[in-house]
Amino acid sequence: MQGVTILGNNSAVPAFDRHPTAQVLTVRDHLYLIDCGEGTQIQIIRYKIRRSKIHRIFISHLHGDHYFGLIGLINSMGLLGRIQPLHVHGPAPLWEILQLQLREADTHLPFDLQFHPLPDEGFVAEDAHSTVHCFRTNHRIACWGFLFAEKGATRADIAAGRSPAGRTYAFCADTKYDPELAEKVKGVDWMYHETTYLDDLRANAEARYHSTTRQAADIALRAGAGHLLIGHFSSKYADLGPFLEEASEVFPNTLLALEGTTYLFK
Ligand SMILES: [Zn+2]
Ligand SMILES: [Zn+2]
Repeated sequence: MQGVTILGNNSAVPAFDRHPTAQVLTVRDHLYLIDCGEGTQIQIIRYKIRRSKIHRIFISHLHGDHYFGLIGLINSMGLLGRIQPLHVHGPAPLWEILQLQLREADTHLPFDLQFHPLPDEGFVAEDAHSTVHCFRTNHRIACWGFLFAEKGATRADIAAGRSPAGRTYAFCADTKYDPELAEKVKGVDWMYHETTYLDDLRANAEARYHSTTRQAADIALRAGAGHLLIGHFSSKYADLGPFLEEASEVFPNTLLALEGTTYLFK
């Protein structure tokens, strides 16, 4: 598992040239797309991500800022003549939505679109070099986080804070502050946690099932994470500097998830 490239780091409304959530995880010769907000395929082109290498897509939940770009991307893959299968993992109702969109457009994809509904928690997928598990987060609608582990990094290793044969990455999706989340990603090497708000807006965060800077950093601290990436910034903030300042006070190994930047899991 080499690293993660950020394609979208904003919350619901695009602002300040920031886009809704999307990230690309590189696992050897495979790319995993995590969430696919509106504009993701434009970002894929801008940052020269090889669409044909996207092997699996993981959708955390059905708020539009996390999947409104999906049908566009799938449609383009078809138009570009993709033939290799594409695996989409997401909440069960997503399959109905995709089928409706494809059926009413009379779109016949030249590749096999395989949909896999997410289980409540546990095993999601396995490839030659990695395994993927999911867990529930504490959001307004059903929402899942994903734990990616390079082969060799077993859950026991993760629980013990070790990953001798590979890196682990936890994508914690949208969530309100929930210490139980730290238990689910204990010992992870790299962790993404949303920080929709600065810490003075804890009440807003609580009411909207989102988190603040210090809350995200507290989860990383409790989890014993190696690094924390923060994102899903509210459109009310032009300057991201204070996000890094506040989170770093609690968890020094914090980085802003910046669009177009690849964070290498060294
Ligand atoms: Zn969101
Ligand atoms: Zn959401």
